[in-house]
Formats: sequence, structure tokens, C-alpha cells
Amino acid sequence: MTQTFSSQVLRWFQQHGRKHLPWQKNVTPYRVWVSEIMLQQTQVTTVIPYFERFMETFPTVQALAEAPQDRVLNLWTGLGYYARARNLHKTAKIICTRFNGKFPKKVHELEELPGIGRSTAGAIRSLGHGEYAPILDGNVKRVLARHFAVAGWPGKTSVLKELWQLSEELTPESDSGAYNQAMMDIGAMICTRTKTLCEQCPVNNTCLAKAKNTMTQYPGKKPKKAKPVKATHMLLFRHQGHLLLEKRPQTGIWGGLWCFPQSSEETEVPSVIRQYGLTEHSRQQLHGFRHTFSHFHLDCYPLLIDVVPAETQLNDNQHLWVEPDTDKDLGFAAPTVRLMKQLMTNK
Ligand code: SF4
Repeated sequence: MTQTFSSQVLRWFQQHGRKHLPWQKNVTPYRVWVSEIMLQQTQVTTVIPYFERFMETFPTVQALAEAPQDRVLNLWTGLGYYARARNLHKTAKIICTRFNGKFPKKVHELEELPGIGRSTAGAIRSLGHGEYAPILDGNVKRVLARHFAVAGWPGKTSVLKELWQLSEELTPESDSGAYNQAMMDIGAMICTRTKTLCEQCPVNNTCLAKAKNTMTQYPGKKPKKAKPVKATHMLLFRHQGHLLLEKRPQTGIWGGLWCFPQSSEETEVPSVIRQYGLTEHSRQQLHGFRHTFSHFHLDCYPLLIDVVPAETQLNDNQHLWVEPDTDKDLGFAAPTVRLMKQLMTNK
């Protein structure tokens, strides 16, 4: 069964697999790694232009390691989950200092690097180095869960363990890179989250979910928990057409990105204004919106406040006055970009 499964998958790949994605050209562990990180929680079509821009700017792991963090975050703007970009940058530095600019081959060494889990480590080893390693990304989880009728949410340890075991058993010793790519392609093209094109699937003759027409039951859903809702007042301090931005701390939401100052309570706005050494002239409420993170909703209430700054205040590298149409090489939080665009349109 194991051998038949993998040879059916490999045969399908020869004819139908994706072979022209940008990271499949000039394959290196570095390119595989960047693409794998970008593809986490993000669609291929969204990733392609980001990947190409990233490779143009940082063609090597050395170039990435030497870049300022702002430049890296700038190229990530709009892709979300910024911890991925910060970890990418950290890992590039470690690869250059500790591994002499070369990606390690061993899964356990790769797994020790920031932002690299077992599946990404397996992808770097199998696709980038051409060595045996199983993977288990979202696509592979879905195909295996359906094919072998593995019940339960894959975030649960016991379910995950069972899926990893299946992946290890099925991944062929030779050609594991092509096999892994094929499994990801089947998950992305045939056995997708919303529909199953079982008649085109190379392993449909042995699929348990197909046999019982229970495809929608696998993989099991995450137990539902309502996301909490938080609120913030985004303070767009404006002076002579420039807006004040501040750099967020490295940890927490929007870590290392440029954002408008905030206040959780509107009644505290005057004291925030004083804290920044500003004098308020006038203010207007802008349209509010909800920004959703993976673990909570954030209701944003923007206030545009015309101010006069004290001369000595805010002359540091954590604060910046910018025009709304700035093209500075900086990483902006998504609401920053949204509000700056809103101001440009209302001009
Ligand atoms: S036969 Fe259908 S459900 Fe089973 S793995 Fe293939 S596409 Fe998915």
C-alpha cells in the first residue's frame, strides 16, 4: 500500500504537478525556506509577487542577514503575520554567523532556528537539499486525514502524531522532494479545503473518505471559541501635513512595525498628547474599522488630531514624522497603511 500510494503520487506529479513556481527555479535551500515561510497561511498567488520582490532585493541569505530590519518588514508589508519576517531575519543572521552562510541539512538543526518547525525543516531538507525528509503542512494534513479517515482536529497532539506517522511511512526514501511537492500540489489543486476533485486524484482508489463520501468530515475542525474583541483609539497626530509614527516594540502585535500612537480609552487622549509634548489644535473622528488577528478582533477608532509639537520632543529613532504618501523603506502595520490611504483619498 505504502509503495503504491507514493508511486501513484509521483506518477501524477510527472504529468500534473506544478513545476514552474518562482521558487522551483534555481532551487536552493535559501529560496525554498523563504517560499515556505511566505506560504504559511498565505495563498500561492498572493505570495508570488512578494517572493519575487524579496529575491530581487535579497538574492542570498547574506544579503538578507545584512539588511536593516525596517527594509525586511517593508517588503513584508501586506503579507501579515509579521513574526514570520522578524524570524526570517533572525535566522538569516544565525545561518551566516553559525553555519557559515550554508543551511544545515539535519532536520533537528534546522528546527532549532527561529520560525522553522518540523514541516518547514523537512521541506528545506527534501526540496532544497534533495535529501529524505517527510513534511506535514496544511495541504498534506488534509490529504492524509481524508485518505486515511483520520478523525479529530490536527492541532490536537494525538491526531498530529498519527498524521506524522503516516507521512513518515509514505514518504519514499528517494525522490522525497518530488513526492512532498506532489502532496502539497494535490492538497492545493485537487483535495482542497472547500472542494474535492476526487476523479482527478491519483490515490482515489484507496481513499477511505471518498469510499464513504465523508470528505467534508476531514480534517476535524478546531473546537470553536469566540474571538475576544478589543478596542483602541489610533491617534493620527498631524503637523504641517506630516503624521507622527512610532516604532512598536519587537514583541507583541505589529512587533518592529511603524504605527500610529494609540490610547485604549478616549478619555486618556489628552494625557497621551501631553506625553508626546504636543499641543492640540483641533480633532476629527475618522471612519472606524475592525482589524482581525488570529486570536482576537481589534476595533480601531481613528482620531485625526492637528497638533503643534514642542521642538525638543521626539527626536529619536523610535518616532518619525511622515507624509501620508511616504515611500520610505519601512515596515508599516496594516492599519497604518489603510489610514494613510484614507487620508490621501479624502484630501
Ligand atoms: S480521493 Fe478525494 S478525498 Fe480522497 S484524497 Fe483524493 S481528492 Fe482527497
